[in-house]
Amino acid sequence: MTRCMKRSTNALMPSQLDIKGQVASEGFADGPLWLAKNHPVPNYRRQDTWQADALALTNAIAIAGAQTAELVGNAHDDAFDILEFQLARLEDASFVEAANELIEAGLGADMAWREVLNSEISSHETSDDAHFRAHAVDLRDVRDRVLVALTGAAAETIAKGVIYLADDILPSLFLSHDWRGGGLALRAGSVTSHVAMLARQQGIPALVGLGDFACSDTSSALLYGGREMLIISPSDQTRKQFDLARKDFGAAQRRVQDFSGRAAVTRDGTAVRVLVNITDPSEVDALPIDHVDGVGLMRTEFLFGHASGLPGEEIQYLAYKKVLNWAAGKPVTIRTVDAGGDKPIKGFSEDETNALLGMRGIRLALKNQNIFRLQIRALLRAAVHGPLKVMLPMVAVPQELEEAVRLFEAEASSLAQDGIACRMPEIGIMVEIPSVAILPHRFSQASFLSIGSNDLIQYVLAAARDNGQLACLARADDPAVLALIANVAKYGAEHGVDVSLCGDAGSDVAVIPKLLRVGITILSVAPARIGLVKASISETDLSDGNEPS
Ligand code: PEP
Ligand code: MG
Repeated sequence: MTRCMKRSTNALMPSQLDIKGQVASEGFADGPLWLAKNHPVPNYRRQDTWQADALALTNAIAIAGAQTAELVGNAHDDAFDILEFQLARLEDASFVEAANELIEAGLGADMAWREVLNSEISSHETSDDAHFRAHAVDLRDVRDRVLVALTGAAAETIAKGVIYLADDILPSLFLSHDWRGGGLALRAGSVTSHVAMLARQQGIPALVGLGDFACSDTSSALLYGGREMLIISPSDQTRKQFDLARKDFGAAQRRVQDFSGRAAVTRDGTAVRVLVNITDPSEVDALPIDHVDGVGLMRTEFLFGHASGLPGEEIQYLAYKKVLNWAAGKPVTIRTVDAGGDKPIKGFSEDETNALLGMRGIRLALKNQNIFRLQIRALLRAAVHGPLKVMLPMVAVPQELEEAVRLFEAEASSLAQDGIACRMPEIGIMVEIPSVAILPHRFSQASFLSIGSNDLIQYVLAAARDNGQLACLARADDPAVLALIANVAKYGAEHGVDVSLCGDAGSDVAVIPKLLRVGITILSVAPARIGLVKASISETDLSDGNEPS
């Protein structure tokens, strides 16, 4: 396949070069190309004694730590998690100790640090666990920040409004620059990398997988999202087309934004409730409560994934209370910790050969009741502040729900005995294991059901959710998946039980009409998708008789 195409213009003008890539973050950018300075880190000058080398390393780690801490102060969501991971590694005494041993044995501070970090990086790169592998790039970032600090070299400063061309970019460099008006063009990279995720969150256009090609620093360039292309030295005609496409894209974005604050109603008048999914309480800070009908899924794993260890009752109580206060009387659904599987948590989840079919979700919580009881107490106390619904993940059989309810009742009476204010919340379950979707009436004790399409799809089709090669199989609109969703919606309608859908399928505009047609009228979606989802609902006509295929 030809990846690059040259188009000749007149002899004095450089000819246009079109390079095809993959869209990691949608959008358009027009600016001068900025070639990453791929120069190696400058040489470190060794000190006279090994002790002085060790001290230089300690100082460099402290500088890198201070730079990272400054970035943490302004970060949210995934950016916060990545930087916190890096900070924890910079504070990890075992790295310094290992490096100091090598320094004492004769290596320079730079070589010693490189060796220790490279071995850690390669253990991440070769891990079977995708979550662990994804941190390899964050560790490379940690390694290089310390190396740069050791040599006293200044970090790369990038001009504003440029299209940054590099093999890849480290998260800290991405986070320390204001990319507004510009974009990222990466020769390597991946759409699932941490930087791609950060670019999407900030709305910065990014293309990855552009491959190798020659170009110069002075070229003008277009990041042409709609065509998945980086265009260098564009012709006048290409620029005109680009301007039109960018205008259309902007108008579509604004239109979608306009929908965010409106009620969600299909063309034929069916009202749909749209709630929000959050992973961190800070996500609600920028979201007006009148844009949503409440919180349909608050994942609580974020509280558990910190380097400082598992959270206590008080930290959890404050996090849950914050969201209930923000919701101002609208329902807030908080899911109990869903550790294990694709969400390993140090000190909690187990090492398993087949983690997705192993100890995860409610199974792990019931096995580790000392940990689970703290969360239950925090939830019971938070319920005093608003209409809390508690949702149990990965329920497979009714006994798991019954046992969890017993634990809630036991902790409620223990809190009451101690005179601590608490309230029993509604308790419902995720429908993400086929056993529940096939026979939902067995779970009549659940006061609500919420379909976790991400897991349900992978278990129905035996296609792992994180394996890109299986994306054509793991589809929400597969007839078997839709039939199960329809079965749960029918059970809910017949028994007066709310059935929502909180997996990613709920924000896929190609799937939303099919979900509505099988009877789903409550969707819970990521904050950034609210406008898009409401726009898609408003364009759906349930009276047109189209059946989902
Ligand atoms: C799901 O499985 O659809 C879901 C919402 O849960 P998670 O993605 O956290 O597993
Ligand atoms: Mg799930």
